[in-house]
Amino acid sequence: MDPATCGVCGTTVDEKPPTWSMQVSERGQRWICETCTRDNLRSIEGKLDEAWW
Ligand SMILES: [Zn+2]
Repeated sequence: MDPATCGVCGTTVDEKPPTWSMQVSERGQRWICETCTRDNLRSIEGKLDEAWW
C-alpha cells in the first residue's frame, strides 16, 4: 500500500500509480496525479528545480 492524495485536485488513491509525480515545496512533498501533472506542467516547471524529477 502506497496511498497518496493529489495536491492539486484532491484525488485520493490507495496505491499511488507510477504515473504520479512528486512535487517538492516549502511545506514538503506532495503528489500530483497524472492528469494534473499534464495540466500544470507548464506552470510548475518554471518554479521547480531538478528535484522535480
Ligand atoms: Zn490531480
